This record gives sequence, structure tokens and C-alpha cells, in this order.
Amino acid sequence: LAKEQGKNNYQFFSEELHQVLSKKLQLERELRRALDEKQFTLHYQPKIHLQTGQIIGMEALIRWEHPDLGLIPPIQFIPIAEETGLIVPLGEWVMRTACQQTKVWQEAGFTQLAVAVNISLRQFMQNNLIEMITSILEETGLAPQYLELEITESMALNVDYTIRILNRLKGLGISISIDDFGTGYSSLSYLSQFPIDRLKIDQSFLRNLNPQNQAIIKTIIDMAHNMKIAVIAEGVETQEHVDFLKEQRCNEVQGYFYSKPLPTKEIDSYLQVNRYGESGSMI
Ligand code: C2E
Ligand code: MG
Ligand code: MG
Ligand code: MG
Repeated sequence: LAKEQGKNNYQFFSEELHQVLSKKLQLERELRRALDEKQFTLHYQPKIHLQTGQIIGMEALIRWEHPDLGLIPPIQFIPIAEETGLIVPLGEWVMRTACQQTKVWQEAGFTQLAVAVNISLRQFMQNNLIEMITSILEETGLAPQYLELEITESMALNVDYTIRILNRLKGLGISISIDDFGTGYSSLSYLSQFPIDRLKIDQSFLRNLNPQNQAIIKTIIDMAHNMKIAVIAEGVETQEHVDFLKEQRCNEVQGYFYSKPLPTKEIDSYLQVNRYGESGSMI
């Protein structure tokens, strides 16, 4: 009996595995086609300077406009794109599109607007990353100080390599931020060796603003400021969040309280509406 059950289990797992694998293959094929057929689009979420209320820039966030399934969030396809290497051409498309669009907004009068692009581990390891970014900046005419890369703590695994790449990226004149900060394992001593401009406090800490998470946020902000690194909080949803972050002297904020990520056209109007606000602030 045990033997039979074992056999059944084996069959069960292998069928399941087969299903998972063929789903993956199908998704990979679809992703390739989506890239060819330009089914991807970028949404943009404003980043706000907390003291002045000014819009300082946008984070570019990819979506897949699937002809049958509608808008698919990145969590459902970025991991497969990452695994299959498709993230490399996809990431290049994101970078080019975000830089082009930001240049358009700058020429429309938002001259200081910056853009942040998420970079996954595979892209960070790609050997022509520097060349790719250099040629996109040249091609689009976006000045390097308006481009920021968002990387995660997981990329700091190989410290020497990471420092080398980051220094070359900084050499281009672009900015670097650490996304989802506080969820990974990077030690503070490593962090101080990285040429980082900004930490993005992971939204999980704000989501549950209990005393422990309040203390973590405070510590991250103090530590960053001691290292002359700016701090942005993501996932800011309520006035309570804003008040707490102001009290802690967080520099910048991003979240549904200000705006969800929006398609380009809606950001156009968002920028127009928020160009002049009360008391000289933009929001
Ligand atoms: P992330 O870079 O940490 O982006 C923040 C995520 O939080 C976004 O989800 C955003 O829509 C969401 N968010 C922003 N404000 C709030 C808020 O107030 N409340 C809540 N509950 N959520 C908020 P999204 O757009 O689904 O992106 C998820 C992740 O996918 C990103 O996390 C990033 O890691 C990845 N991703 C997105 N676009 C790209 C891309 O172009 N390339 C790569 N490599 N990864 C990307
Ligand atoms: Mg990000
Ligand atoms: Mg994040
Ligand atoms: Mg995240």
C-alpha cells in the first residue's frame, strides 16, 4: 500500500510540476510576443518633497496590457521575465520609455522632474548595463541627474562587485536608491560603503505603524541622515502617516495619499493641476 501511495504521490507531483512548467513556458512565449507587439505600458507615481509639497519626480512602474486579460501587475510577470532573461530587453524598453517621457515633461515646463526606474538583479548583473544607460541618456537627451535607479538589498550579496558597479553608475551622474529598505539583510557597515543617494523605507513598516515599526522607521531615518543619505517613505496612505513622517524628518513621500501610479495622460493632468498650489507649494 505504502509503495502504491508513494507511486501516486510521485505521479501527482510530476503532473503538477509538468503543469507549472508548461504554464511557465506559455507565459514566457506570451511575454516574448507581448514585447514584440508592444503590449507593455508604464504607469507613473509621483514622489513628493515632504516639507515643500513639491513634486520631485516619478517612479516608473510597468504594466502588461494583455489583449484578453486586461492590465496585469508586474508581480505576475517580472519574476518569469527575470528567470528567462527577458527582463533584459524588457528593462531596456522601460528605461528608454521612462527617460523619453521624462524629457517630454521637462520640455513642457517641469524642468526639474526626475524619474526612477526599478532594476532587478539580473539587469544589475548584465554586463552592458552601463553602456545601455549611457546610450539611452544620449538618445533621449535626459540629463543624468534626473535618472535614478531603484535597486534592492538583495543586490548587495557580492559586496565588491556591487560597489564597483555602483561607482561606475554614479560616475555617469545618475542617482541610486535602495528600494524596500529594511526587508533584506544588508548590514549597516556594507551600506556605508555603497555610494547611495536615497533609501526607500519599505511600505510594510507604515502599513502597521505599531511602536516597534515606528522605532524601526525612526532608526532608519536617523542612520541615513547621519550618512548624508536622503529617505523616502513608500506606501504613504493616510494623514497619520504624513504627520508621523514629518515629525521624523523624512525627506520625501510616495503613496496613495498623494496619488496612485497613473498612465501618462493622467500624469499630464496631475502635473498641470498641481503646478501651483496654495502657499506656493505644488500640492
Ligand atoms: P516597488 O518598486 O517597491 O513599487 C512600489 C509598489 O507599491 C508598486 O506596486 C506601487 O503601485 C505600490 N504602491 C505605491 N503606493 C502605494 C500605497 O500607498 N499603498 C499600497 N498598498 N501600494 C502602493 P506595483 O506597481 O504593482 O509594482 C510592484 C513591484 O514590481 C515593484 O515594487 C517593483 O519591484 C516591480 N516592478 C515594477 N515595475 C518594474 C520594472 O519596470 N522593472 C522591474 N525590474 N521591476 C518592476
Ligand atoms: Mg521601486
Ligand atoms: Mg518598494
Ligand atoms: Mg516592493
